[in-house]
Amino acid sequence: MSKIKVAELFYSLQGEGRYVGVPSIFLRTFGCNFQCAGFGMPKGEKTNEYLQIDPAGYKTYEDLPLVSRGCDSYASWDPRFKHLSPVRDVEDIAAKIFELLPESKWKKEHLVITGGEPLLGWQRSFPDLLKRSDFYHDLENLTFETNGTQPITEDFKYFLFEDFTRFGRSYDRLTFSVSPKLPCSGEKWENAIKPEIIHDYQGIGHTYLKFVVSTDEDIEDAKKAVKEYKDAGFCGDVYLMPVGGVDEVYYLNNKQVAEHAMKLGWRYSPRLQVDIWRNAWGT
Ligand code: SF4
Repeated sequence: MSKIKVAELFYSLQGEGRYVGVPSIFLRTFGCNFQCAGFGMPKGEKTNEYLQIDPAGYKTYEDLPLVSRGCDSYASWDPRFKHLSPVRDVEDIAAKIFELLPESKWKKEHLVITGGEPLLGWQRSFPDLLKRSDFYHDLENLTFETNGTQPITEDFKYFLFEDFTRFGRSYDRLTFSVSPKLPCSGEKWENAIKPEIIHDYQGIGHTYLKFVVSTDEDIEDAKKAVKEYKDAGFCGDVYLMPVGGVDEVYYLNNKQVAEHAMKLGWRYSPRLQVDIWRNAWGT
């Protein structure tokens, strides 16, 4: 039986990107290849805010504090918090999903597989979940939220392309919401901007880019990155989204980001989960 280390599994509204406002199940896998400690920090500096949180004091995600700098999903990859993320088999995950869905079955809800970085190692386990008949036939839309650095394995590509998006379904059934990390994240350009990889996603499902920005310099970096992606054949939509974290930080830059998106002819993505739930865990 395939297993996945699950950081969070909850029912909410999609807050970002293409499916904003759509009721969605979120399956957040544990583990990430980045730390993004530069978000919300002066250039070249990294936050240690999440490192001040003592993991021993917390037994559930809902109890964890929010951070105003760095990755807002820190507990989904920081090994110090791994005790909060049990390894669950796909049957157990499916059972929990049907418990969370309002009518205990898929209707119009959407499945979002997120992280951490969900395409790191769990690609081998996803087919066993997705090929269950109550997912394979009934689930209308699936999105992977990824940082765009992980290639799709040949086996998983075959499953997604030859199987999951067929059977009377369309290419549009599958979305890759790719959020490449710009230098403001604290990650290095050469590790984070991988045009050749998302070109591969584009061959399997609807693929768009979503950049987290807060300054004019970030906008320039986003423009440079988009050029690299387009030169490699990317032809999808581009979104700009304000830096997340707690709402005080978010509200400082959303108008500016919206104006940049309009000027560039790109899309603006809100963070609905901040508007409604103040970015709490489990939303
Ligand atoms: S890629 Fe995403 S989950 Fe990973 S550290 Fe960066 S913001 Fe957090």
